[in-house]
Amino acid sequence: MMLYEQVEKREKEACGGGVTTVTGSCKFCGQVATRKALEEWSGEEIDELATETCECVDARIYAHKKGQKERANARIDLLFGKDNKSVTVPDAAVDLLHKAVYPVCEGFIQSMTVDIGNGVKGKINITSKGIIKVARTKTDTSTYEA
Ligand SMILES: [Zn+2]
Repeated sequence: MMLYEQVEKREKEACGGGVTTVTGSCKFCGQVATRKALEEWSGEEIDELATETCECVDARIYAHKKGQKERANARIDLLFGKDNKSVTVPDAAVDLLHKAVYPVCEGFIQSMTVDIGNGVKGKINITSKGIIKVARTKTDTSTYEA
C-alpha cells in the first residue's frame, strides 16, 4: 500500500487519530511539502511520502512505478498465494514471482515465466505500452492420458 493510502486508511479507521501534520522533502527535486502522516513514521518515511505526492516529473514516474509494483505484488498474492482456491503453489515459487516484479517493472527484463509443475505456470511481463501483466495458466494434462 502506498504511504498516502495508509494515511487515508488510518484517518478512516481512527477518526483522524494517530495522524499528524509533518513536513518532508522530495527525494528527487528536494521540494519541501506539508503532509498528513502517521505519527510513528520516521523521517525517511515522511520523505518517501513527500516523494510519492510530489508533482515533479521524476517523482511522478517513481510513484507510478511504485504503484505498479504494489499492484503486481498484490495480484501475485491473489493468483498464487495461499488464499487462492485453484492451484497449490509452493512458497518458493511465489517468492520467485515477487522477485521478478522489480526487474520487469524497471524494464531490465521483458518477462519471466515460472513453471510450477502439474501444468501450472506463472508469468509476469511488461507490454509495449508499459503495462504490467501477471497471469496464471493451467493446462489440464489429464486429457492427454487416454
Ligand atoms: Zn519532487
